[in-house]
Amino acid sequence: MTTCSDALRLILDSVVPLPARPTPLFDALGLVLAERVISPETVPPFTNSAMDGYAVRADDLSSAMAASPALLDVLADLPAGSVATHEVAPGTAIRIMTGAPLPADADSVVPVEATTSEGSRVRITAPVKRGANVRLAGEDLREGEELLPSGFALTPAALGILASVGLAQAPVRPRVRVAILTTGDELVDASARPGPGQIRDSNVQTMCGQAAAFGAVPIPIPRVPDTREAVTAALNRARAEADVVVTNGGISVGDYDFIKAVLGDFGAREVFWKVKQKPGGPLGFWLWDGTPVFGIPGNTVAAMVCMEEYVRPALRKMMGHGRLLRPEVTAVFEGEFRKSAPDGKVHLIRVRARREGDRVVVSPSGPQGSGILSSMLRSNALALVPADALALRAGDEVLVHLIEEPEDR
Ligand code: AMP
Ligand code: MG
Repeated sequence: MTTCSDALRLILDSVVPLPARPTPLFDALGLVLAERVISPETVPPFTNSAMDGYAVRADDLSSAMAASPALLDVLADLPAGSVATHEVAPGTAIRIMTGAPLPADADSVVPVEATTSEGSRVRITAPVKRGANVRLAGEDLREGEELLPSGFALTPAALGILASVGLAQAPVRPRVRVAILTTGDELVDASARPGPGQIRDSNVQTMCGQAAAFGAVPIPIPRVPDTREAVTAALNRARAEADVVVTNGGISVGDYDFIKAVLGDFGAREVFWKVKQKPGGPLGFWLWDGTPVFGIPGNTVAAMVCMEEYVRPALRKMMGHGRLLRPEVTAVFEGEFRKSAPDGKVHLIRVRARREGDRVVVSPSGPQGSGILSSMLRSNALALVPADALALRAGDEVLVHLIEEPEDR
């Protein structure tokens, strides 16, 4: 049996980032740049007005005051998107809208609120500082400067920067396509009424939901009956359609657990099977002609915990992220937890974490059976009860993974 930390290391050592491809900006949010981006252009591309008002020469207003206002001839109206055909000669102004290019020989913009229109002229009763309300060409971004470093996960602002310099596609690593393959003769769809001994397939929802939340593309494979033939066909289909295959259920030592055997038939290399942990002890990991395959046990919480602790970091590495792991903090335990027997396994228990001053306090979010999803729903962290510990008591320190916080390592 493998330890949790060895299992994670073996997985991360086995997966590599997907090749980058030019991706339209609308599809690129959250994806990671495979190379740095140099600006091919300057932003703003031309000097323009920051306000609706009048483009003027500051010199014309140097002695303007209420008692002796400046009266300037208004030569034209300049909406955004148009270019002036007049120069602003001494004693004149052009009515200008925000974003319109500053006309030649104007150097400042007086906001419309500070003016009074008088027929074909405008009255202004105060001087303007030269350059006021003008945005200079290139004041934001310069041609040739590094806009974004390699490894940057694109944010909405980054998408805007790329668009503003005319880069309509970004060189990012794609979302990993993850086939999710649930197995079990006892399972029916959420919309169906279960027959005797049957239950609904909830894992296909939690696991596809997690894959999507991780930034990957979940591909649900039609649920697989517990026969060797069905498992064989489904695994073939999953590998053809995805970059990563995640199977669920049928990975233990039951008489109808075929996943392991079929992966063996295919010649997939077993990297490990069984981890000293609870839930999720029967977790296995294979490389099948280069495709990573996770075999995750079927209990509802085991499925989610294995997705969170093992699949998520692997997908992040494949998508090019530098930080793969959630924050791990030492927290103070509140409440009571006891293993039913010493088992040499790390127990990942569902807890609710909260900050109290500079410490984190955690308490169990409900009963800890590996099929009890309601306590998963209420948890925001997993506490790692050490393999050699039998119990946690109030006030004990425990390592915790904050599973709703962004990766920091
Ligand atoms: P298995 O790992 O196939 O032995 O399944 C372990 C337990 O998880 C059994 O009680 C299954 O009924 C349950 N289970 C397996 N797959 C699912 C699923 N997709 N949705 C809900 N429960 C499941
Ligand atoms: Mg099963």
